[in-house]
Amino acid sequence: MKILIADDDAVARRLLEALLKKWGYDVLVAGDGAEALAVLQRPEPPPLAILDWMMPAVDGVEVCRRVRERTGEPYIYVFLLTAKDGKAAMVHGLEAGADDYLTKPFDQAELQVRLRAATRVLDLQAALIAARERLRDQATHDGLTGLWNRPAILEELERELARDRRQGTATTVVMADLDHFKRINDTYGHLAGDEVLREIASRMRASVRKYDSVGRYGGEEFLIVAPGCDTECARGLTEGIRGQIADAPVTFGGCLLPVTISMGAATLHGGLSGAAALIQTADEALYGAKRNGRNRTEFAVARAEAAQPSLGGSRS
Ligand code: GH3
Ligand code: MG
Ligand code: MG
Repeated sequence: MKILIADDDAVARRLLEALLKKWGYDVLVAGDGAEALAVLQRPEPPPLAILDWMMPAVDGVEVCRRVRERTGEPYIYVFLLTAKDGKAAMVHGLEAGADDYLTKPFDQAELQVRLRAATRVLDLQAALIAARERLRDQATHDGLTGLWNRPAILEELERELARDRRQGTATTVVMADLDHFKRINDTYGHLAGDEVLREIASRMRASVRKYDSVGRYGGEEFLIVAPGCDTECARGLTEGIRGQIADAPVTFGGCLLPVTISMGAATLHGGLSGAAALIQTADEALYGAKRNGRNRTEFAVARAEAAQPSLGGSRS
């Protein structure tokens, strides 16, 4: 674990550095408070700091106060080391945000066990942050395909429409549905169906632009949100996806499973209708693609007042 030590007294600093290294810590050294602050304000600061109270210009208490002003994670555990003694000094140091406090000359064994306690707190915090991030990820992603889940992709769409309203830009949504997917389940089983969904999701993600978002809208239905994408762009985007899927079968258990996808693309300029109307327009276009033979995309321009699809098909 990394520890920053800050002390203006070179002898004390070297002594502490040698001790911490002996205990297996990775030590960063600062010769005064300003230097310590610079290290602690880096994007990835050390999780532990041992600060001398008395330092010229910026003292340990001030460093501590400034560190606590930063709201980011992870938490930095701060020790104050000082020649000052007495309850009042301790209260002052802890009030500034220090987590622990030792008076100089300190007892080595005491510092060692207190550092162990600090490490336990920091390890616990790291585990909680990791668990929270896992939960956040699970709450926004589809478990099978790893794509955004339905609430997350809808939220993304709302964000893009709000941006379109501010900036007058266009967004295209694509509703995509695998063709005759039930047959794959019926013929090869659900595990094969699951593998097809995973593979198709990965091909879609690979063929969209990096600022497009792909979500799993329902069983074998996907929703793509393409910001700044007009009708022309929508043609290129959907043709890329369609080709990626139709041109190579999915392999499962030694079988080659040909898969195609139908899509309905709806483009809206200036965010002038709601997400629901836009999706409805894309959905109607998708039904058009199914009706017109599958493995194709139909396009619609969503209108501001009533989202009326104006269908015009293309197959290549
Ligand atoms: P169409 O071309 O008209 O879209 O026909 P389709 O067979 O794709 O459509 P239908 O709605 O009849 O069938 C969709 C099937 O997708 C039915 C359902 O069991 C299957 N499905 C939905 N979610 C999953 C899943 O997570 N895994 C698997 N294996 N199948 C799924
Ligand atoms: Mg289908
Ligand atoms: Mg379907």
